[in-house]
Amino acid sequence: MVPILMYHNVGEGERHLTVSPQALARQCRLLRAMGFHAITLRELGEQLQMERIARRVVVLTFDDALLGVYQYALPTLRNYGWSATVFAVSQRLGQETDWAPRYRHRVMSRQQLVDLHAQGWEVGAHTLTHPYLTRLPPEDAWREVAQSREELQQLVRAEVYSFCYPYGDFNGDTVQMVRASGYRVACTVHKGLACPQDDPFTLPRVPVACSDGATGLLYRLWRAWRRTRRCRTRGGIDEL
Ligand SMILES: [Zn+2]
Repeated sequence: MVPILMYHNVGEGERHLTVSPQALARQCRLLRAMGFHAITLRELGEQLQMERIARRVVVLTFDDALLGVYQYALPTLRNYGWSATVFAVSQRLGQETDWAPRYRHRVMSRQQLVDLHAQGWEVGAHTLTHPYLTRLPPEDAWREVAQSREELQQLVRAEVYSFCYPYGDFNGDTVQMVRASGYRVACTVHKGLACPQDDPFTLPRVPVACSDGATGLLYRLWRAWRRTRRCRTRGGIDEL
């Protein structure tokens, strides 16, 4: 069972869905003290495919590719030799988030995303404009899913392997679009730990709240483990 942590922004001050750099550092310290090391979602996807999940791995995902992730999470994780996965909204790079009134954040630039990728991070796709995919006409939803992959692949000059559903909004048709567009794994906002028997296109995650420090993260891991423990695998945090 593997925790896929869900973060949004990292930064100073009380902001919606923003973890402080200090809290992120404490969480990384805790994870390392527990024997975890972080891998990208792509690496986990490849391990799931081979049904050989390394022991004590964790995946950190950052939705929306926000500027604070580049500024704070990148150097913090570098201290541990870890990389992570960002899900980029391909037509909002270098702009501000514009899809929720309470949620105004600066998005990293195209160059910063390229730099992040060059430093070993995985760039996954999170559509072109962050819509509710199930509310769009199929041809528009298809464009959001497939074209964002193409745009990001052109930008980072590498395969885009992972997708994340905006707002966790998907249905059977959306999953088919994601699969047919060439992605190999996709994340939802369902809570739980990822297991080999999971559908790789609807992977659950562990949300990290802005008020969480190390203890908060530990509590969330425990809750996710309890929720998922009926699924038994070797390794992972089932030995906690
Ligand atoms: Zn998002």
